[in-house]
Amino acid sequence: MTPSKASTNKYDWTTKDSSILYGLDRWGKDYFSINESGNILITPKDDKSKGIDLLVLLKELEGRNLKLPLLVRFDDILENRLDKIHQAFGEAISKYKYQNHYQGVFPIKCNQQRQVVEKIITYGQKWKFGLEAGSKAELLIALSLIDDPMALLICNGYKDMKYIETAILARQLGKKPVVVIEQFEEVERIIAASKKLGADPLIGIRAKLSSQSSGRWGSSTGESSKFGLSMPDIVKAIKKLKDANLLQELKLLHFHLGSQINDIAILKDALQEAGHIYIELNRFGAPMGYLDVGGGLGVDYDGSKTASAASTNYSLQNYANDVVANIQECCESHDVKVPTLISESGRAISSHYSILIFNVLGSNSTPLDIPKKEQEESLPVQNLRETLNSLLNIVKTDEIDFQKLQEAWNDALKFKDDALTAFRLGYLNLTERALAEQITLKCAYTLATFISDKDDAWIPKELKELNMVLSETYYANLSIFRSAPDTWAIEQLFPVMPIHRLDEKPTRLGHFADLTCDSDGRLAKFINNGQSKDLLELHQLKPKEDYWIGVFLSGAYQEVMGNLHNLFGTTNAVHIRLTDNGGYQVEHVIRGASKADVLKAMEHEPQRLLEKLRMTSEKAIQDGQLKINDAQRLMDHIENSLRQSTYLQD
Ligand code: PLP
Repeated sequence: MTPSKASTNKYDWTTKDSSILYGLDRWGKDYFSINESGNILITPKDDKSKGIDLLVLLKELEGRNLKLPLLVRFDDILENRLDKIHQAFGEAISKYKYQNHYQGVFPIKCNQQRQVVEKIITYGQKWKFGLEAGSKAELLIALSLIDDPMALLICNGYKDMKYIETAILARQLGKKPVVVIEQFEEVERIIAASKKLGADPLIGIRAKLSSQSSGRWGSSTGESSKFGLSMPDIVKAIKKLKDANLLQELKLLHFHLGSQINDIAILKDALQEAGHIYIELNRFGAPMGYLDVGGGLGVDYDGSKTASAASTNYSLQNYANDVVANIQECCESHDVKVPTLISESGRAISSHYSILIFNVLGSNSTPLDIPKKEQEESLPVQNLRETLNSLLNIVKTDEIDFQKLQEAWNDALKFKDDALTAFRLGYLNLTERALAEQITLKCAYTLATFISDKDDAWIPKELKELNMVLSETYYANLSIFRSAPDTWAIEQLFPVMPIHRLDEKPTRLGHFADLTCDSDGRLAKFINNGQSKDLLELHQLKPKEDYWIGVFLSGAYQEVMGNLHNLFGTTNAVHIRLTDNGGYQVEHVIRGASKADVLKAMEHEPQRLLEKLRMTSEKAIQDGQLKINDAQRLMDHIENSLRQSTYLQD
């Protein structure tokens, strides 16, 4: 989008326009909208009459010294996501008269934060919702947090003897851990651990399906995937378990197609394949009872409802229906009792509840008000002024002659080049070079504004690319490596948009550069209804006014995968709960890492660093290079700074 001539006036623009522009009416409809003040409104529950104005909330949090960047977690949304998954499976089960139930687990790897896992366990109690662990450390979390003896604890990931023994002992403790065989070698370990402890684990087996998911994680699935047993290995494993008298404990079949399944057709294939493996395992004599369809339930990040990377061509209800219907059909046709259905949905549960908000520190925008000519100017600058004037005249007459416009733009580029050459050869001073660049930008802006509401089909390619010339860099108080690592690592798209000024037309196009000294530290790909775009529509910054941006649907994986690049640590995080009277309550505050924290994480001892500095400044005082007052001021700055956030704060 380029700024439109018709609506540069803020009053022509409505919040509805912003909702369409940022795709909010597509990806946000369950929880996010825009209120009459032009701010994002959060409606975390199904009752849409109760909402929280995000800007007002942030201002009030700021009053509690919780500055941006900030992770705001809406616990009601987390609860609502769990409700929605259970509702969807509940509906599918009654629609198909499925003779068993759904009992999900949350994969801890998706967000290991204590408050998050605890909340999921608390909200999920009524459904005996469990946890999935992918490592020994995650197993510890699961063992200590799950109290319900019926809630499942799915033990995935590579397993050594200690992992397996812990699971066996936990079963004796009254928990329900299922040791899922992911590697053939684990069969021997399970047998050995059972013999050693004189007790058996509940056993599951993960199958390597031939059905391969599409999308980002597609290549990590299928027959050559890292985890799971091939069909020959499954047959061998069953024989070994039988010989060791452990087949009676094999109760669960698991598969995982990869995260963010974009295309439902792939899931259907996988379900049919898994359904038949389940039946075969029954035939081999295993007393099966559970089918675990893994994770992969996708999030429609751009709301396009397509099979593209940032979307899904199915709804939660379609997903549940397909799981239930396909497994039912398989089992019925072979007279096998239908299993309890498990899913390990992480992304679909924890993405929506968390919003990362950051403030913009400034932008590199060039002022477009051109100074009047006050003295004789060089030829390139004179030519540029003439080109701009003729462009302004064309635009005034509203004459649509793309050839003329194209010629004028070509002229502007040529004269700007002349100005650069003249500067390089020493014939043009810096002020005139700056003026030449400014006039060229004004030409681009005038053209872009003019063509923005014209029929795209007729606009020459060069003119369409004007947006790139006009794009601005907005400097973000954020480290994408810490807070949105997937945008860098796998080019994942999240909905990113201003959280206020949404009743005002955004007249700029830009991308974000983060605080790290890394040229990759950018947010420069944005959702675009099934595609992506390099520039986002943004508002012109106003002097001394905040401009706050939200990264939405970012509650899964981001916090966990973030790293300490440039020593930017965790941001502050708050948990917000809606109250009955329509207000809110701050349930938890989790302070972000201080500079001392991140230094310690790298084995630097802050006290030692301080002491070294103190000694250096003492010497500078002795040598007469530093006054005592200044030395003390320096030490005070550093000592205070160690206790403070790693981000910019005034
Ligand atoms: N289960 C397993 C075995 C996984 O590897 C993963 C993540 O890739 C998940 C569950 C969670 O997947 P998702 O977040 O797509 O639901």
